[in-house]
Amino acid sequence: MRAALMYGAGDVRVENVPDPQIVEPTDAVVKVVAACICGSDLWPYASKVPTAEGARMGHEFVGTVEEIGADVTGISVGDFVIAPFVASDGTCDYCREGLQTSCRHGAHWGSDGVDGGQGERVRVPQASGTLVVVPAGFDEQLVPSLLALSDVMSTGYHAATKGGVAPGKSVTVIGDGAVGLSAVLAAKMLGAERIILMGRHAERTKLGREFGASDVVVERGADGVARVKELTAGDGTHVVLEAVGLKPALETAFQVVRPGGVISRVGAPQFEDVPFGFGPFMQNITLTGGVAPARAYIEKLLALVLDGVIQPGKVFDRVIGLEEVPAGYRDMADRKVLKVLVRP
Ligand SMILES: [Zn+2]
Repeated sequence: MRAALMYGAGDVRVENVPDPQIVEPTDAVVKVVAACICGSDLWPYASKVPTAEGARMGHEFVGTVEEIGADVTGISVGDFVIAPFVASDGTCDYCREGLQTSCRHGAHWGSDGVDGGQGERVRVPQASGTLVVVPAGFDEQLVPSLLALSDVMSTGYHAATKGGVAPGKSVTVIGDGAVGLSAVLAAKMLGAERIILMGRHAERTKLGREFGASDVVVERGADGVARVKELTAGDGTHVVLEAVGLKPALETAFQVVRPGGVISRVGAPQFEDVPFGFGPFMQNITLTGGVAPARAYIEKLLALVLDGVIQPGKVFDRVIGLEEVPAGYRDMADRKVLKVLVRP
C-alpha cells in the first residue's frame, strides 16, 4: 500500500510500504477514508534530523473496518469508525478515568510498528477501546467534521473543559490555528459569555467569529495584551485557552488571565521553562491543560455532529489525495492552508 513517510525536515515522501495485517488478536485493520496533516506534524517538518529509514506520519483518521482480530468486540467489519490520535484499551484504570492518553496498553500512530494515518490502511492496536463506531455509518457530507473529532475538536474541547469554561465566564483563546478555532467552538458550546480570539489571519478569525468569538485581537505581544485588557475593563478573562505551544503565547496567557483565573494549555509545548513564578502565585492563577484524551470526548461530540449542532470540519480548507501529501505539508508550513484533509 501507499503511505507518507518523513525522512527529515522538509522531506516527506509517499512510498510503498507493507500492507497491514492483524498481529495481535485485539487489532483491527482499517481502510482510511480520510486523514489529515496536523499542526503538530509541522514541528518535525521544521526540525526533524534526517534519517535513513523515515517515519510513518499521521495520527488522525476515519475509515472503514476491513478486518478484526479474534478478541475484538463491539466493532464489526464494514463499520465506519473514528480513530483518536492515541490508541487505548478502554479498560485500564487510566482509561476508566477518562485519561486514555495515559493508557497502560496504549500505542501511538506511526511508531513502534504501528501504521500512520497518512496512508491507505492502518493496523489499529486495542481496536475495541480505540475506535468509535459512527452509528449512522459513512456519510460523505460529515467526513470533515467526523475527522475533526479525531484530534483538533477533541483537543479544543479538552482545553475548554480543563479551563472550567461555563456560562458567565469570559474566555481568551490564543491562536487561530485549527485547535484554537476548535477551542472557540468548544467555549461557545460550554456557554462562555464572551470569547476573545487572538489571531491575525483574517480568514481564520472569520471562521472563529462564526464559531462563536465575540472579539478578535490581531495584535500580538504587549499590544495584544493591552487590547485584551482594554476589552475587559483592565482585568483580563476568567479563562485563557492557549493553543499555540510557543513560549510567547504562554507568556501572553499569563498576562491576559484575570486574577483567580485558569490558563488551559493544549498547544504542544516547544519549550520547557514555564513562567509560573511569584506574579501568577500572587494572583492565584491555575495552570492546567495537557495532551487531550480525545477518546474521552468523541462519543459526546459525535452526537452533536450527527445532530448538526456543530460543524468542526469547517477548519479544513483543502482536500488533497495521498500522493499530494508532501505538497500539503509545504502549504501548511507556508501558512497557505489552515488544515489539509487527505483522501487516500
Ligand atoms: Zn487503558
